[in-house]
Amino acid sequence: MSPTVTLNDLIQVRLAEIAEDAWDQHRVMRLGHGDGRVLEIGSAATWEMWTCHGQHGNGLCGEALVTSRQASVLLGLYRDDEPIPDPQIAPIEIELLDEGVGGFMSDALFHWSDVVAEYRKAQG
Ligand SMILES: [Zn+2]
Repeated sequence: MSPTVTLNDLIQVRLAEIAEDAWDQHRVMRLGHGDGRVLEIGSAATWEMWTCHGQHGNGLCGEALVTSRQASVLLGLYRDDEPIPDPQIAPIEIELLDEGVGGFMSDALFHWSDVVAEYRKAQG
């Protein structure tokens, strides 16, 4: 048995820590891949990876959350565009693995209702 810690081990540990912090600080729950709902908008779709269990004044939220990258893709924007300039519910700042960069970068989780509202706005 080799004691070597692989990069993948480090990433898994960090992801678990981030998920724990997100729950402690924001009541945001990370889902296993494929455990969440399929989120469809227009002709685009993605997996729900995070769910909000926060309270924003009307009881338990329960909405799906998407990363800014997911939101950009769903809305047909370029990756670095600000996908939702004026969200109704404040996005949740979180650190996420950026596969392209191969490191952890700060990102934001947006509520699904804000993505839908932005989509409708863009449709006119
Ligand atoms: Zn919420």
